[in-house]
Amino acid sequence: MDTSPNSNPSPSPKSNIYHISGVPVEFPYKPYGSQLAFMSRVISTLERARRQGHCNALLESPTGTGKTLSLLCSSIAWQLHQNRRHLSKPPSSVSEPNEVADPLIHGGGFIPDPDPSGNTEMPQQTTKAKAHKKLLTPTIYYASRTHSQISQVIREYRKTSYRVPMAILASRKHYCTNKYVCGKENVDDVCKLLLKDTIGGCLEFKNANKVRNHPSLQIGGCFEVHDIEDLVSIGQRVKGCSYFAAQTLAAEAQLVFCPYSYIINPIVRRAMDVDIKGSILILDEAHNVEDMARDGGTVDIEEDVLHALQAELGQLCMNDNLEMTYRPLYDVIQGIVGWINIRKDNLQRCEFEHYLSTWTGDKAKQQLQQIGISQQYFPVLQECATKAIKAGAEAVPGETHLTGISLITLEGLFSSLSYFFSGNGCHANDYQLALQRYVKRDGSKSDI
Ligand code: SF4
Repeated sequence: MDTSPNSNPSPSPKSNIYHISGVPVEFPYKPYGSQLAFMSRVISTLERARRQGHCNALLESPTGTGKTLSLLCSSIAWQLHQNRRHLSKPPSSVSEPNEVADPLIHGGGFIPDPDPSGNTEMPQQTTKAKAHKKLLTPTIYYASRTHSQISQVIREYRKTSYRVPMAILASRKHYCTNKYVCGKENVDDVCKLLLKDTIGGCLEFKNANKVRNHPSLQIGGCFEVHDIEDLVSIGQRVKGCSYFAAQTLAAEAQLVFCPYSYIINPIVRRAMDVDIKGSILILDEAHNVEDMARDGGTVDIEEDVLHALQAELGQLCMNDNLEMTYRPLYDVIQGIVGWINIRKDNLQRCEFEHYLSTWTGDKAKQQLQQIGISQQYFPVLQECATKAIKAGAEAVPGETHLTGISLITLEGLFSSLSYFFSGNGCHANDYQLALQRYVKRDGSKSDI
């Protein structure tokens, strides 16, 4: 990423519109030849994606050559060009999309249950806005490694003349404006508990629209291009939730900034309601993607979390109506607990107070089979897990379901297992099953 202020020292004196492959691109400076070549590649990739349904490009340019500016200007220019193409079509050729009906899309245990007051305005707005946006133009998701890198990209975006609806996706930890919740270790859990509280709840949640509709975020407003801190400061001023405001803004945005995990990790994607189908994905500093992809396919489960999940599943099995769904999951977790107990004293010592054994490919499959997770049985388990995750995400009042960390653990476990068993198990050699015992800083022992 280029953040050098001197990478383009000479602003264009007259017109700063450059026609690249038929697309008018506004560039804040007189572009170097390398920048024109870079933007031309971006546009030809997007054009090919439009014709073929998808297309990837791996673009490299030395530090200080204005990559970020070139990426932003060319992709937004193409997006606007595409928008104009759509608008010039006769209205009858554009059909209404189906509303997003899959409740899992709103799930993952992170999205709140319906507002206790019965106010469902925010989620409805989100769905409608998404459907409308998809009609016109693909959303640009600009993903970077950290939030501070995103801030640098936004500084570059400010230099351009483009002003499209934008949003930044980030966690509650960054956005929460409830002074009793922000700064806590477990902001997610506290927030979800508050939103279930039909009496108290969270005042800021009810005021999230005051943030989203704040005049400073509108066209020409001082925060039309905003950073996380800007949205938080608006939230603090109007006593509204910046986290849910950012989600609504993202549903309507043409340009969404986010960390890699919001694009690469399917659990985070579902939790944050990020639908990347048909979108333009820009992965800045893509050499980090391998690590992120590895993280996305990995689940770490500690023994006490496993026990808590087992206990919750055991409770749910006692309900006759729910047993069909939860019994197979309970059996699997019990199988994992038993498997750990048998092996934990026979692990290989790798360093002081750290013991580890790993299995990969067919050996990992054999171990999973001993637990009760076979290639043939996995689809049945996955169906049960999907129902359990859906029930937890919907959290219908009066219906029992998995909660908090247990829900997240089950989702993470089945996400990794689905990668492991995908393609009839042909990717099993890319994954490793590991069991380790080590001493935590607080002195307790932990198994995975
Ligand atoms: S301000 Fe938003 S994130 Fe914070 S507790 Fe309230 S609803 Fe949750």
